[in-house]
Amino acid sequence: MKRKSSSQESPLVLVVDDDDSIRMLLRETMERYDLSVAEAGSGAEALSVFSTLKPELVILDVVMPRMDGFETCARLRRLPGGEATPVLMLTGLDDLESVDKAYEAGATDFASKPLKWLALGHRVRYMLRAKRAMDDLRTSESRLATAQRIARLGNWERDLDAGTVECSDEMYQIFGIAPQPAGARYECFLERVHPEDRHVVVGAVEDAIRRGQPYSTDHRILMPDGTVRFVHEQAEILPDQAGRPALIVGTTQDITERKQAEEQIRFLADYDSLTHLPNRRLFKERLESVLASARRHKRLVATLFMDLDHFKRINDTLGHSAGDKLLQEVAERLRCRIRPTDAIARGDPREPDEPLARLGGDEFVLSIIDITRGEDAARVALRILEVLKDHFVLEGHEVFITASIGISVYPSDGEDVEALLKNADTAMYHAKSAGRNRYQFYDGSMNSSASHRLSMETGLRRAIERDELVLHYQPQFDVRDGSIVGAEALVRWKHPELGLVPPADFIPLAEETGLIVPIGEWVLCKAFHQSRAWHRDGFGSLRIAVNLSGHQLQPGFVRMLEELIRTAGFNPSFLELEITESVFMQRAEETVGMLNDLKSMGLRISIDDFGTGYSSLSYLKRFPVDTLKIDRSFVRDVATHPDDAAITVAIIAMARSLELETIAEGVETREQLVFLQQQGCSLMQGFLLGRPVPAEEFTRALRKNAAEMSPGVPM
Ligand code: C2E
Ligand code: MG
Ligand code: MG
Repeated sequence: MKRKSSSQESPLVLVVDDDDSIRMLLRETMERYDLSVAEAGSGAEALSVFSTLKPELVILDVVMPRMDGFETCARLRRLPGGEATPVLMLTGLDDLESVDKAYEAGATDFASKPLKWLALGHRVRYMLRAKRAMDDLRTSESRLATAQRIARLGNWERDLDAGTVECSDEMYQIFGIAPQPAGARYECFLERVHPEDRHVVVGAVEDAIRRGQPYSTDHRILMPDGTVRFVHEQAEILPDQAGRPALIVGTTQDITERKQAEEQIRFLADYDSLTHLPNRRLFKERLESVLASARRHKRLVATLFMDLDHFKRINDTLGHSAGDKLLQEVAERLRCRIRPTDAIARGDPREPDEPLARLGGDEFVLSIIDITRGEDAARVALRILEVLKDHFVLEGHEVFITASIGISVYPSDGEDVEALLKNADTAMYHAKSAGRNRYQFYDGSMNSSASHRLSMETGLRRAIERDELVLHYQPQFDVRDGSIVGAEALVRWKHPELGLVPPADFIPLAEETGLIVPIGEWVLCKAFHQSRAWHRDGFGSLRIAVNLSGHQLQPGFVRMLEELIRTAGFNPSFLELEITESVFMQRAEETVGMLNDLKSMGLRISIDDFGTGYSSLSYLKRFPVDTLKIDRSFVRDVATHPDDAAITVAIIAMARSLELETIAEGVETREQLVFLQQQGCSLMQGFLLGRPVPAEEFTRALRKNAAEMSPGVPM
């Protein structure tokens, strides 16, 4: 085997002849045409050279000893790559039998000896060019098939006279039809078209044929296994020479995935994924059109804005998945038990005129179309409250939930969607502050208080980071010796415009918004540091009382408190947590456990505003409490009203029997002081003895008090 290549690029031709001189002449001829040449002197050698060098063309002599050219050609065709390589056979002159045999053996062409060298060179080059063209065609066909497979795109040609369709493999794939080499009947494809869409497709095709125009349709196909796929079909009509429609040539693309993605996107854009109710966007859009029609027909439309009461508690105590479940079940109850009876649903059942939506969080909204009077909306609101009354079961727990509902009515409470929603929301807030589990109609005077509330809420959120909160301290005295035994920390908000805001004006808002948690943490931290400073200053036995909101008593509170105490290096035995009586009453079970945990840290617990919350004696025994703070309302009138005096006396006696300490708060007069002391309550707090003051002022009061207590000892 010899190979000489003039250039790596030039095509390689394998010359096979047992005659050395012929081979040499062939080589010279080929090289003159810029072709590279490899040689083989026998059939066997030819096969091995072919396998290793993969020539682009083979010139093969017919007459060779052992393996002749026919056999060599036939075997070469079976080698990898051999089937597409052009083979030029060299036969004897006009040996027709050989020519036939050569074609049978797979030859591409033949040339008879004696050879015409110049023509042979041209012929070889021509054969190479044809081979390249074939190669290119094959590559592009396979690329096209791959592209069609990836794009799930099939192409086809329908013969209108014969009623057959010739198509690509992908077309069969898409329709789930077995490929048929001679083409399939058009009916096979039409059968697959979804029965509901068939008339659309047939109509489009007939119309296109009649007008000689292209057409395109989107339709469904029904697969044998019952699944439905979406396709996009596009085609044009080709006429025969007489101008009659003869062929339809087109493509069909499987667009199922795209359709599903589109539907998913549409769903996500318009519906809430948790409850599958319409979301705010879709609700607004629908209410918009409802209002347009109400405007034309001069009708009323009510918007009910509903917010679950204390929903956050469910999330906090049972976890977010329970919270999600509750929202789903609330949605389900509203959907099944409110809509069909009370609100007017009509139209296409697949796309109901859904008047219910979830706006986010625990907020739902319902519009009621065509009411005649506002009371119709109230009836629906009452029904919602009724429907929520049955308990929910969440992860094995029985849970009860109520809701607050605000109602605005078109056109009196707003002309457009935004105004109606905003005003229903405002009314809902009023329902909340009126005690929850109720509905409230909007009333124009609500707006100013709503915007005030909003600006307070925004301001309060920033109050901590802007360092606008301050603590004042009010002294607690033991009137037996006149000493200051404790300080109650009372928070104030130094509002940039409103000045010093008292806690009563922002603590309820902080509780409603959850801001009480960070605020409460700040108060505790500040109080611990201040208390430590006083201890270091020599007031080593001073107690510090800190007020706690019921909203702060959440899982994690005990751990947070431990951490705060540890980092402040504070001794918890000086801490008294004041918790209002109502907290004990509302969540007795939860509270007992948590209070026990707190107590075990070594701190003290007092019941604030005692006497206002109707606690019974038996209740008190269950709680690990140290102190009762007698509410100011009793103290105020002890000296003048016999009833209040009697209650106060009873509280003090009861506390004594339970071995609890009592502190009287709000002592403003000497008479009150004397009365209380006579009854055995000697710990007191009130304007008579000292108002809440900033820390520095309190320090001065402490120094003064200590000086009075032990004359001669300088502080
Ligand atoms: P409270 O715990 O019962 O606090 C006593 C309130 O009575 C204080 O009002 C105090 O200034 C006032 N007071 C004390 N002595 C007298 C008196 O002789 N006469 C009259 N008329 N009032 C007196 P303040 O500071 O406005 O606090 C009101 C309530 O705000 C507190 O009632 C407490 O429930 C709450 N609060 C204050 N600070 C905090 C806090 O840091 N966290 C929480 N959760 N609540 C707080
Ligand atoms: Mg208090
Ligand atoms: Mg109090």
